[in-house]
Amino acid sequence: IEKKPVILQSDKLSVRFGGFYAIKEFDFSIPHGELHFLIGPNGAGKTTFLDAVCGKTKYSEGTLMFNGTTNLAKLKEYEIVREGIGRKFQAPSIFPFLTVFDNLELAMKQDKRVIPVLFSRMKASDKAKIDEMLSLIGLKEQKNVVAKTLSHGQKQWLEIGMVMMQEPNLLMLDEPIAGMTEEEEEKTGELLLELKKRCSIIVVEHDMDFVRKFAEKVTVMHGGQLLCDGTMEEIQRNERVMEVYLGK
Ligand code: ADP
Repeated sequence: IEKKPVILQSDKLSVRFGGFYAIKEFDFSIPHGELHFLIGPNGAGKTTFLDAVCGKTKYSEGTLMFNGTTNLAKLKEYEIVREGIGRKFQAPSIFPFLTVFDNLELAMKQDKRVIPVLFSRMKASDKAKIDEMLSLIGLKEQKNVVAKTLSHGQKQWLEIGMVMMQEPNLLMLDEPIAGMTEEEEEKTGELLLELKKRCSIIVVEHDMDFVRKFAEKVTVMHGGQLLCDGTMEEIQRNERVMEVYLGK
């Protein structure tokens, strides 16, 4: 069996808030091109883990290695983005009064300011890149629509597209289907399957039906620690998971 290289690996990672360990000696790893779900009850430490990976929260012990050699402890938040880690937060961060197209253009040229980007001439290759992303996220017809008029689901896809314009190697999403209709959920799952051809994906998710349907691998956290990981079938066979999380 061919083994894919690991993109992100945590080794005995601990995050402390004062004397309280939100994450304790947590081991996690994800290879290239995997769609990996992070689940666990409220307060398990899932969001804190994503925060530690993107540099929003500093960790106190253990290591977080990206692409085998990059130690994330040494990097600032913006440097971690440059290394190729993209995160979509739950709270929306689109530019509501700009078009869908302009939102994607701005995301692609994130280091520039709004005004120069919108008034500078565009390269054909940049345009092609944006058009390709519009197709991928299913917003081709909404290209020239002002973002605030999009549906909730469409806004979420636009945001995922905006993160993807930076061409990350690792994409992290926090409950991407929250508030979506069933049809939008389905589309989001299909989008994730498409995106995993381009990067590894970690999704924090509460909706177990969604996890069952789309997860390649699942990690269960509990009390800041690893409870178990594996395929959905393996997880469902684990008695402790049943007790602690699924309640079945
Ligand atoms: P999850 O995302 O799995 O619901 P969190 O990562 O949000 O869990 O939280 C894990 C634990 O850490 C919880 O007990 C939470 O109250 C605590 N926690 C999270 N952020 C902070 C913070 N900034 N200060 C103190 N405690 C925090």
